[in-house]
Amino acid sequence: MTDIYEILKKYYGYTAFRKGQEEIIKSLLAGQDTLAVMPTGAGKSLCYQIPALCLEGITIVISPLISLMQDQVRSLIAMGVRAAYLNSSLTPRQMELAMYNAANGVYKIIYAAPERLETESFLQLVQRQEVSLLAVDEAHCISQWGHDFRPSYMQIADFIAKMPKRPVVAAFTATATDRVKQDIVKNLHLKDPFRLGLGFDRENLYFGVYKPLDRTQFVLDYLRTHSEQSGIVYCLTRKNVDELTAVLQENGISALPYHAGMGDRERAFHQNEFIYDRARVIVATNAFGMGIDKPDVRYVLHYNMPANMEDYYQQAGRAGRDGEAAECILLYSARDVRINQFLIQKSEESENADPEEVARHIQIQLEKLKQMTFYSTSATVCLRKRILNYFGEHFNPPCGNCSICRHDSEKRYAKIGLSADGKKLFVDEALLGRLEKQRAVLANRAGVPAYAVFSDTVLRELSACRPRTVQALSKISGLGEVKIQRYGQELVNVINTYEQEADF
Ligand code: ADP
Ligand code: ZN
Repeated sequence: MTDIYEILKKYYGYTAFRKGQEEIIKSLLAGQDTLAVMPTGAGKSLCYQIPALCLEGITIVISPLISLMQDQVRSLIAMGVRAAYLNSSLTPRQMELAMYNAANGVYKIIYAAPERLETESFLQLVQRQEVSLLAVDEAHCISQWGHDFRPSYMQIADFIAKMPKRPVVAAFTATATDRVKQDIVKNLHLKDPFRLGLGFDRENLYFGVYKPLDRTQFVLDYLRTHSEQSGIVYCLTRKNVDELTAVLQENGISALPYHAGMGDRERAFHQNEFIYDRARVIVATNAFGMGIDKPDVRYVLHYNMPANMEDYYQQAGRAGRDGEAAECILLYSARDVRINQFLIQKSEESENADPEEVARHIQIQLEKLKQMTFYSTSATVCLRKRILNYFGEHFNPPCGNCSICRHDSEKRYAKIGLSADGKKLFVDEALLGRLEKQRAVLANRAGVPAYAVFSDTVLRELSACRPRTVQALSKISGLGEVKIQRYGQELVNVINTYEQEADF
């Protein structure tokens, strides 16, 4: 059997697996169905990509998120893996070409939207090609009890049944209650699956709650000290979004608004400006987020308290998807409680349903709002404990990474940082700045976002270890062979120039 550590190093440039990854990979390679519940940023994709590279035949990955598929395929190709996606973003001509290639065994990994499975051409494809692994991403979409039920997920089991040989089936999700997990196993027809659950905690996220007298001033100060980083500011209303954006822009901050009152075109444009780092800040209502997979969002700042913990954790969770330190800051004011109460009443009235049903629903929403308020006014209990307990998980405080467990003066985690394998790094900020500039040049040349070239983790490690030769780059975690070949010399040049200048 192929050595999975060798593949990890060669393609991804990593030397160690993260929690759970090796178990999942081994279970899949042993031919066992698998259900893995891992928090965002834990590294799910590698868990099915490495088996895909080891196994004969192709791997199909089912995912509902178009932008995520594109990102994943782009990074696989950049690592030297033959991969493609099949979804509605392709033109008929592109689709035809991709299907032709697929039928000729060109791809090792194929990402497909669930709707694709029902098409005749796709069924024909899997009749002819051996599919050894089928990975279902966002598997909670198969359950009506999840927060994102998608009827097309119900077709997956039928699709599998139509294949000449049943592939190993792997299901992944970041959120699953017992109820949802049962549904996944049942609706996907998983056979006696190996189960792995890593819980809900996102260790790299700092949680803070503050009650500033002047919120706008707080946001301005915060953004000034985070000017080079990407972040999201969430507001409750469109009016808040527009007003705050105007203030930020007047103060020279590259912020853009995003809410449901804007046209599709304008929204897509602003989202793109953010992804390509041309706008550092997006000021948004909860309309922003679906399909946003920018991994290097370094902070999510809530200008207002949201309506419930589910929304809060989902929005805050858009920070730090790359696993690097990130901050989730909530600004609380008692007025937010009243605004939320008002919004809950209003949204229910317009539904025009059975009055008893409406009253019951309002009751539930108000109870959730109470829990959210409880979190926001916590004066003594660790915020991470509050969050995890709310979602039914146990946690022993202190966490050392929330505004209750740690005073601001100690907020050093973000500065010092940790390398991919947990070693403390002493990053040279000036060199880091130059490497970021070089990355922007390379990204521009390739027409992709900066994060698609190198992760922030790689740049931090480069600026701490300062490798001076291309050979030495192989010691940097996150640089696989293909990336070293393609960009290595240019990285080394930046470092050597910097060192020469520093000598004078
Ligand atoms: P998820 O899908 O669980 O949110 P991803 O698969 O996108 O997470 O991985 C998150 C980040 O962690 C990516 O940048 C990935 O390269 C990195 N990563 C995954 N596995 C490892 C590992 N073993 N060592 C270091 N970094 C890793
Ligand atoms: Zn804490």
